[in-house]
Amino acid sequence: MSAQISPSNSLQVKALQILHEVFGYTSFKGAQAAIVEHVCAGGDALVLMPTGGGKSLCYQLPALLRDGVAIVVSPLIALMQDQVDALQQLNVKAAFLNSSQTPEDARAVSNLLVNGELQILYVAPERLMLTGFLAQLAQIERLTGIALFAIDEAHCVSEWGHDFRPEYRKLTVLHEQFPNVPRIALTATADAPTRAEIIERLQLENAQQFVSSFDRPNINYRVLPKTNARGQLEAFLESEHPNDAGIIYCLSRKKVEETAEYLKQRGWDALPYHAGLDATIRNANQRRFLREEGVIIVATVAFGMGIDKPNVRFVVHLDIPKSMEGYYQETGRAGRDGLPANAWMTYGVGDVVSMRQMLDNGDAPVARKAVERQKLDALLGFCESVSCRHQTILRYFGEAHAGDCGQCDNCNSPVDTWDATKPAQMALSAVFRTGQRFGVVHLIDVLMGKNNAKVTQFSHENLSVFGVGKAINQQQWSSIFRQLVAGGLLESDIAAFGGLKLTEAARPVLKNETEVWLRRDVEVTGRVKSSKAQKSSNAKATYDGIADDPLWLALKAKRLELAREQGVPPYVIFHDSTLLEILNMKPQSLIELSRITGVGKAKLDRYGDDFLQVLEDEVNGIG
Ligand code: ADP
Ligand code: ZN
Repeated sequence: MSAQISPSNSLQVKALQILHEVFGYTSFKGAQAAIVEHVCAGGDALVLMPTGGGKSLCYQLPALLRDGVAIVVSPLIALMQDQVDALQQLNVKAAFLNSSQTPEDARAVSNLLVNGELQILYVAPERLMLTGFLAQLAQIERLTGIALFAIDEAHCVSEWGHDFRPEYRKLTVLHEQFPNVPRIALTATADAPTRAEIIERLQLENAQQFVSSFDRPNINYRVLPKTNARGQLEAFLESEHPNDAGIIYCLSRKKVEETAEYLKQRGWDALPYHAGLDATIRNANQRRFLREEGVIIVATVAFGMGIDKPNVRFVVHLDIPKSMEGYYQETGRAGRDGLPANAWMTYGVGDVVSMRQMLDNGDAPVARKAVERQKLDALLGFCESVSCRHQTILRYFGEAHAGDCGQCDNCNSPVDTWDATKPAQMALSAVFRTGQRFGVVHLIDVLMGKNNAKVTQFSHENLSVFGVGKAINQQQWSSIFRQLVAGGLLESDIAAFGGLKLTEAARPVLKNETEVWLRRDVEVTGRVKSSKAQKSSNAKATYDGIADDPLWLALKAKRLELAREQGVPPYVIFHDSTLLEILNMKPQSLIELSRITGVGKAKLDRYGDDFLQVLEDEVNGIG
């Protein structure tokens, strides 16, 4: 009995064929199959998928299946070249139009477009809005057809995020002028208000929504109490990322430069990036990060949007981010390729105090400040949380998560909590008795009975709290204060130059009406123990020990050589995950090589022989 092939069936067959032959993938990831089918059938879609979820395929594949050219609207001008390069590697006819081009180049692309010789065109939103261009599109729709409109980074319509692009608001014109062309809007921004705004602003009320889980299972989250940040950072880099590319976030431009300089002097390939740097330097640094292997970028949050380097192996926060949204987005730049990656943060009481001051001193309206404050508090709650990091993050974004991850710091070495009511009372009284205007350092001295009057010109020897806390050491006190500030029992007083004062929440504690339970910080010294043993259990173990495997190095060297010849980033040739599969499978023929994820027809033709040769040389000991 022969199976009936319905239109939807034959669509699926064709989609799978393109998935194999062009993209080199064996199967769809997550909701990709459903999205591709929906868009191919002409429906509008809103796709919410985390970074690394595989969003590009959701419009690239329908672009190849449907008649006519697909128009991809993206604000990421700097990325378009790489995206087009990557598609051309797959023999897809792709091009872009944006302000970075010479008029001649733009004209050449326009000619291809009008002649129906393009399958995918990336355009910047301001370019799309030009009346002339819209008229041209109308003509193209009549002649050769428009396959779809993809609106990438759709959250740019929202005024609330920091990626707001006014031109995105005008994209409703697409719907109005081309009602029969399907639209697919995509974003990795998860929160409900932004989602609602995207639907409203882009008139996507009738679009089908595809909401993926926002979990990033391959990211291993860790938050450490700050003791000696630079020492802790270097120990982390040495033991876990001696040769990897990563991003280190700092709050201020000054700290970015100092940290980059420090790391450079210590022999790390570290480069600074912030909005205050000269544009040529900034671009050169970003370019090195993207095109070379193992470069570390030290940056403010100005660095990130549009960095789609798949093999960022770690993201460090030397200062706390402003919100959970910020933390999730910044750490999310690690491990796009699905291989294990680390999100690592150190944090101390000083961070909380200075971040709160920064928000309080800002010139946002009062209501906005209250929101910012709440967001910071949620982040601090996350830092101090004793439960699974993945669960805490997902709960924040309103998503249920099944079970502990088993790999984050809290899952790995479960954190103790302890009844800290008595010490908390001591700390709060010390704040009160000294007049609610001193910082943590002085308060700890008072509690430990150290007279620092010479430094501060204040003697508190006669107070009842002087020396009551001798049984507790400096580091423990610092942890207690950090948690009291993070928990909102103490706050910094701007009028008193950031000295600590009590909040309403402190009252019941002092009156012995509430208990205070705190997390027991793991003892942290300047050097962090090499945590190989702690590494995630479900991490692809193969990736850990291979840093100096000669075959791995040879494969990477070949990739870099090919990338340099063509002036493209190495991952445009093959992703790490593909290279890793080659390393593990050691294919001996083109057929075997074609079965590796990420090796489609075009790349097999282009690079198959080169990489088989590397494998052969290595076996024969020539490499
Ligand atoms: P996003 O834009 O959502 O961050 P990308 O489109 O960059 O994600 O894809 C993330 C990674 O997943 C890339 O390395 C890509 O090659 C890979 N990928 C996407 N779809 C598939 C698939 N069906 N099978 C295997 N790998 C895939
Ligand atoms: Zn966990």
